[in-house]
Amino acid sequence: MNRFYELIDQHYEEMVEIRRYLHQYPELSFEEVETSAYIAEYYEKLGIPYRKNVGGNGVVATIKGKKPGKTVALRADFDALPIKEEADVPFRSKNDGVMHACGHDGHTATLLVLGKVLNQLKDELEGNVVLIHQHAEELVPGGAISMIEDGCLDGVDYIYGVHLWATDNVGEVYYREGPFMAAADQFQIKIVGKGGHGAQPHLTRDSILTASQLVVALQQVVSRNVDPLESAVLSVGNFVANNAFNVIADTAQLSGTVRTFKESVREKVIARMEEIVKGICMSCGTDYEFNYTRGYPPLVNHKEQTEHLKEVASRIPGVLGVSEKAAQMGGEDFGYFLQHVPGSFAFVGAKDPDASDVAPHHHPKFMIDERSLPIAAKLLGEATLSHLNFSVDSKVESK
Ligand code: MN
Repeated sequence: MNRFYELIDQHYEEMVEIRRYLHQYPELSFEEVETSAYIAEYYEKLGIPYRKNVGGNGVVATIKGKKPGKTVALRADFDALPIKEEADVPFRSKNDGVMHACGHDGHTATLLVLGKVLNQLKDELEGNVVLIHQHAEELVPGGAISMIEDGCLDGVDYIYGVHLWATDNVGEVYYREGPFMAAADQFQIKIVGKGGHGAQPHLTRDSILTASQLVVALQQVVSRNVDPLESAVLSVGNFVANNAFNVIADTAQLSGTVRTFKESVREKVIARMEEIVKGICMSCGTDYEFNYTRGYPPLVNHKEQTEHLKEVASRIPGVLGVSEKAAQMGGEDFGYFLQHVPGSFAFVGAKDPDASDVAPHHHPKFMIDERSLPIAAKLLGEATLSHLNFSVDSKVESK
């Protein structure tokens, strides 16, 4: 029997206990002071070196192997959402209006216990493990970028992360090489014209007419400027120009979202939007303010590390299926780590296979099946150990 798996299984109860504790005390992005302290204290008690307040509320622990070798980073996020929990469980949220509705409590429990187990094996490792507990995944600009600036990836060769996925069965693992999760951006365009009487249009510069042309013209960005084999979405979701029926509006405002999977496509979309806004406003004699807010970058998995995760997943007991997942239009700031270090991000099924109907992520009744936790720990752990020349076969008797 693989000693590592055995150790994880022995710690199942602890993993569940930690997850349920964290579930009761969720904290919003950038406000996770208690959770951060809880994580730091866990490593403190185990004597595992760690650094707190990394780029904010982040905590980074390091396990040094006996011999030099590669350094593998593992990341778990720990923030919650402004949602009032409706799940009927004994460990429901005690922080009213705040809820772990994306499984980050499970991610944290998984990484803490995995850290404890890997620390027990450290004398047999050639290389190091960096445990990145990231704050603020749910809210732009996110915690990843400031943690990277604060050095959490220094010396790291590879990085791995998983997301527990509540709508896929426990036992399923999903991977995807290349673009996996989208960059999700926001834009606002304010058109400033000159208002006036509806019967005297020649004395005005109509902001509604300008904005209307823009709504139409912006559609050519995806249809005419983006390579048809790439994907992008540009949606105008809001058009505001409050006015009386017989008055020409002096201002109109459009806002919307852009989703892309490649940085090059994203930059092209932004550049073309700016040109179109500028050109149409010039032709209409109106002024404009164009604000484009970049959300997280696209999450792009590296080929070699994705192959590695896939291969590792297929030999973990309890894993029933390893399949490719379609790219997701949601965002994830794990994408920042992958811009610096090769790695891969996978989904681990967390749905009770016998449940007929489950709530999706960010839903007030969201719930994960805790049997997914040891699978996530084994996947991340095994992916790490195999980089560090750890021999999984039992040596316990010979010691
Ligand atoms: Mn999440």
